[in-house]
Amino acid sequence: MIHKINDSIYRIELPLSDTGGEHSVNCYLLMPELLLVDAGPADSAAYKVLEDALRSINVSINQLNAVIITHHHSDHTGLLTTLPDSIPIYMNSTSIQYFCNSSAIQDKEFITKTIAESVDVPEPKRAKLMEQLFRDYRLNGLEHKTLHLMDQEGWLFDKYKIILLKGHSCNDLCIYCENYNIVISGDLLLDKVTINSLLEINPSDGTLVTNLMRRYMSSVEFIRTTNAVLLPGHGEIIYDAASLINNNRLKTEKRLKKAQRIIKQYENLSVNSLCEKLFPGLCDLEYYLALSETFNILDLLDEQKSVKIDNSKQGAPI
Ligand SMILES: [Zn+2]
Repeated sequence: MIHKINDSIYRIELPLSDTGGEHSVNCYLLMPELLLVDAGPADSAAYKVLEDALRSINVSINQLNAVIITHHHSDHTGLLTTLPDSIPIYMNSTSIQYFCNSSAIQDKEFITKTIAESVDVPEPKRAKLMEQLFRDYRLNGLEHKTLHLMDQEGWLFDKYKIILLKGHSCNDLCIYCENYNIVISGDLLLDKVTINSLLEINPSDGTLVTNLMRRYMSSVEFIRTTNAVLLPGHGEIIYDAASLINNNRLKTEKRLKKAQRIIKQYENLSVNSLCEKLFPGLCDLEYYLALSETFNILDLLDEQKSVKIDNSKQGAPI
């Protein structure tokens, strides 16, 4: 499905078959440069939809001049290895550590053990959690590609400003289209999704990255200052990012207060126990999301210095 946003930008909606929450993912085509932003899931149905969508505006996949990746998650990068090797790929320099499957990421036994000890994840939930934590690190075959690893912000084709941020993942990349005051914002801000700073494994040492939320808040604040229309990684165009950010902030404030009450009430609470008390329903349905948000809350409480965090336990309150 292809939607024309303006004379230079198209949104291409690709189907997502194996995820819990979202049903589709957005790629964007920037014209006339023929730049594709994000590459959808590793799925032949998604590839066919992309091919057909491009064909409907008389573009073939071979004509694409580059692919720009907003972050390393598999719903945005899965088709990278299927696309022709002649198409160069632009990405945040941190992303490559995930795609190359660093030895730290491969050490699943170590990661499982550390998480089990520090977070106190009960056995039935452990396997699913590990599956979700490792879900994004499956991309092989990039050695034949031309990679442009971006470690600082800059302009692409004198027209698109690449902005490097953190928060939804460790390596978010947004594209500011100055002519239209539009930001292609990846998954940083999604309509209807409040919990959007997700738990990740640090590719350099296999530990959990537990302090993404404060980076998320400043990234989102930056987006707000642009006053731009957002083109998100999932869902429709976001015209009023400021209201969405405010609503999310109010929900976060409520969660912080609830967490403070719980932490005061119980001693030696593990991250898992806090998670179960904060999100009793979500904990059973989407443990990964509930745990991500628990770490987010702990990160903000740590920033406010309102809870003492034991860093040796990867962020567990004491
Ligand atoms: Zn996504």
